[in-house]
Amino acid sequence: MLFDSHVAILLDTAVGLVNALTDGHQGSRPYTAPRGDALPAAIEEVLPGGVTVSMDEALYLASTALKVRRVFEAMEAGREDDAAAVVNALIISTGARPQLDRAPGEPWQVHFHGADDSISVGWSAGFASALTLAIGSDLGGRLGVCRAEPCDRVYVDSSRNAVRQFCSRSCQSRVKAAAFRARMSSGSGPA
Ligand SMILES: [Zn+2]
Repeated sequence: MLFDSHVAILLDTAVGLVNALTDGHQGSRPYTAPRGDALPAAIEEVLPGGVTVSMDEALYLASTALKVRRVFEAMEAGREDDAAAVVNALIISTGARPQLDRAPGEPWQVHFHGADDSISVGWSAGFASALTLAIGSDLGGRLGVCRAEPCDRVYVDSSRNAVRQFCSRSCQSRVKAAAFRARMSSGSGPA
């Protein structure tokens, strides 16, 4: 396993929120994030555990999602200094800290908490902590932005050989089909 399971859940949730809450492209189509009254429900769909999100918490998490997108974009572009600066600012603003938690009958586990345990600050602190562990290890390259232009959805590469380049299977097949058509039209035939 690449990441501890708690960290893996945090990174997956961060990816879900970035892709749901930031504008750009999803596949070949423009994507506009939900706004106003639609925002809390969009977040409730991404967060595990069937939680209820207030408008204030939703706005906080939407702002976190924009910062997390900047981290993924910086890592994809090889600008690690920029990524680290955004993550460090997020650590400070959320009061992120490790804590030992245990479920009854289970061993103690390292979890991440924020200055308070609200949904917005708690999850944002968790994202900041998980990104810290990824970028501060040799796993920073696992944070990616889809390379199937114009798509800009983000992903965490959990493949064994770190070969992932796309946010989804549909983006992967769109790029492969385009490359195939290009080869056919250039007369070189199928490879
Ligand atoms: Zn994509």
